[in-house]
Amino acid sequence: MQKTYRFKIKDPNPGKIAVLRYLAAGPWRKELNFAVEMAKGHRPGTAYDLHPFIYTDLRLFGLSSQLACACRDRAFEAYQSHQELQKSDPGRHWFPHFDGVTAIRLNIPRSCRLFERPGQHWIEVSTPEGCIALRVAGRIEALERVWRSKPTHAEIVFKRDEVFFHVGVAVCLPKVSPKDRRTFIGIDFNVLNHLIVARATDAAGRALGCFFFPAGRFNWKRKHFAVSRRELQQAGAHCKLKGIRKREQNFVDAFLHQATTSLVRWGRHFPRPFLAIEDLSGIRANVKASRNWNRKLHSWPFRSGQAMLRYKGLSEGFFVKQLRGAFSSRYCSRCGGRNTRRSGASFACLECGYGLNVHLNGAANMAWRAVRYTLAAAGRAGDKTAERQPGPYAGDRDATLAAQSSLGGHLDYVFCKPLTSVRGS
Ligand SMILES: [Zn+2]
Repeated sequence: MQKTYRFKIKDPNPGKIAVLRYLAAGPWRKELNFAVEMAKGHRPGTAYDLHPFIYTDLRLFGLSSQLACACRDRAFEAYQSHQELQKSDPGRHWFPHFDGVTAIRLNIPRSCRLFERPGQHWIEVSTPEGCIALRVAGRIEALERVWRSKPTHAEIVFKRDEVFFHVGVAVCLPKVSPKDRRTFIGIDFNVLNHLIVARATDAAGRALGCFFFPAGRFNWKRKHFAVSRRELQQAGAHCKLKGIRKREQNFVDAFLHQATTSLVRWGRHFPRPFLAIEDLSGIRANVKASRNWNRKLHSWPFRSGQAMLRYKGLSEGFFVKQLRGAFSSRYCSRCGGRNTRRSGASFACLECGYGLNVHLNGAANMAWRAVRYTLAAAGRAGDKTAERQPGPYAGDRDATLAAQSSLGGHLDYVFCKPLTSVRGS
């Protein structure tokens, strides 16, 4: 897995930065666009397929050989991600085109060299105008980690008046197998009330703990953004509209990061966790509802939340897997019965009389699917030890709460909400 570190260039010499800016907005950007257009015509399968068509031209236009190769790779990446987006959602995406001061890709160590001076970290970038040395600032541990490892790619990124150095470091992840999992965490993403609800069980299906991350501020703030967006639209203030979109995106990303990080921190307390995420493909296509509800659901960042959970979980050594999410909130999580009722946030099973929060029920079903997945992976698909056991829990409506209180100190990131009382149970 690649981990990207972002550092700031410290007190750069304005002359040096002017050279880099000129390169980024001039030759580099133009040739990147040229390479992307060539990719459109030649449909390369790898970056090297593109090489014969563009390399000579890029060199003639003034890029050094290393920058020409970096340009080829960057153009191919843009082309490839466009192809993937086209596959999942045809006709909705513009063909890539680079504007403004574009980030410059660098190959390490050929076009960018990392070196140290006492107490300082420096990079040396080779440009067509000559070598430029820049001092990089940041957290000392992160800097040392990057400088000690052997990164292969970096980018010089321009944002307003500042210049940043982004560098990717390959992180070695432990190989995790689904077979030896001991804790199963089912996750339920929501639109209302709670952003994330998770429930951890052991291999026999006993509850170990619950996790709630409230979405109140999230929904409130997004509603606020939607209102101001509509007002700006009516007033025709398009520049401001662009700004507000960006602010909203930043807010959503930050909130999702908080939620997913605290979930992963909570999950760390359990032995060998299996994180079961719902496979939501097709969820948006199937929904037809009121305008308000549609806005909520269609603009809801399910996918980015799941992607964050995936990489954060993997880097903690969890096994992360998308499992079938269909009907996870309809079936009873204790007896598997399908004769169930739902009213608002409460869920009731008419077959065994179990009642709990509807999202908690969905999360428990996902955890159960994770148990089944592990058993199947270990070749014990028919094992009865993990069958649903209505017996021990009959009448114990608050099993999950009891489990929580018995674990006590384990659950420092849990936002508890009392289980809703359920009619008909
Ligand atoms: Zn039931």
